[in-house]
Amino acid sequence: MIIHVDMDAFFASVELRERPELTGLPVVVGGSASGRGVVAAASYQARKFGVFSAMPMTTALRLCPDLVCLPVNMGLYVSVSQQIHQIFSRYTPVIESLSLDEAFLDVGASEKLFGTAAEIARQIKSDIKNECQLIASAGVAPNKFVAKIASDIDKPDGYVVVEPGGVQDFLDPLPIKRIWGVGKKTEQRLKQAGINTIHDVRNKRADWLIQRFGKLGEHIFRLANGLDARDVIADAKAKSVSSETTFASDIQDKDILLATLAQLSEQVAARLRDKDVKGKTISIKIRFHDFKTITRSRTLAESTFSTKQIWLTAKQLFLDVLRTGATPIRLVGVSVSGFAGNEAQQGDLFEQDVKQDKLDVLSDEINQRFGKSKIHRGRKI
Ligand SMILES: [Mg+2]
Repeated sequence: MIIHVDMDAFFASVELRERPELTGLPVVVGGSASGRGVVAAASYQARKFGVFSAMPMTTALRLCPDLVCLPVNMGLYVSVSQQIHQIFSRYTPVIESLSLDEAFLDVGASEKLFGTAAEIARQIKSDIKNECQLIASAGVAPNKFVAKIASDIDKPDGYVVVEPGGVQDFLDPLPIKRIWGVGKKTEQRLKQAGINTIHDVRNKRADWLIQRFGKLGEHIFRLANGLDARDVIADAKAKSVSSETTFASDIQDKDILLATLAQLSEQVAARLRDKDVKGKTISIKIRFHDFKTITRSRTLAESTFSTKQIWLTAKQLFLDVLRTGATPIRLVGVSVSGFAGNEAQQGDLFEQDVKQDKLDVLSDEINQRFGKSKIHRGRKI
């Protein structure tokens, strides 16, 4: 069985834990409105006003003028993330992190030692609550696709177990947009064909879906039938570290897009440093309003986990794409791959780079030790 653990409103919840005086107030973490920032996380109190992550801060403030806006304190979130990771690793070594606050755990080999997957998930939730004073939602299921839906469906403080025999009953009533890969466009087309729920998909033949949607049709059919054979890939074997944001509504403002890209670069770099892994290839991913998706990569001469280097490369790749004209964008992502492994580092390291590495590590450490925002990178790095 697989457990998907996802922290509730992670960045915002960590800030609320650090600043109890803000309890009950609508709080967001993100870039400033004057700097054309984006909401990175919204507390549940803020969500009542319609404020969500990946929303421009100016929009958020319009919806909720009393919103408390806090800067992103990545170092602190990384240290809490490490603590949560340590809790996971008590129960299984097979942990695949999706972001700082979200992971798949394969507990297939742990059940003899620690009880059923359902019991392990409950234990993890209570460990996180007791040791970190934070709330996690957990989904338990025979595969990744179902586990991820299960953790999301009863948030916050969710705990949903889907036994192997219960997968179809669980999936059938859900709307088709719950299927990975079904975006607005596909959803529209499926609805036009009278398909609204996962149950409706299952009533269609696979070749009917493949005829209309090609490869995506086959993918939809498989997931609707609860079939997802993807393994949980332990982080140590991961070939890349990535982070992406889907905007609440399409964004055309270049500054907001760049601010988001800077945030994602910082997050990816912090995770690389946390794992003590450097990568050579920096990639960005852009999904336009029409769902056309592109990736652009650059391979550097030296491996890096420096926020500055990752951000500058991502920025350059992004500006190259935008040169052809600004179109509304739905999603941006940053990833680093091409890890050095055990091979010796080649070539000269410029002193500048060594300094930058030290600065990054120092900033992580200071943030961890003192919490709150002692050091925060502005856009101009
Ligand atoms: Mg989360």
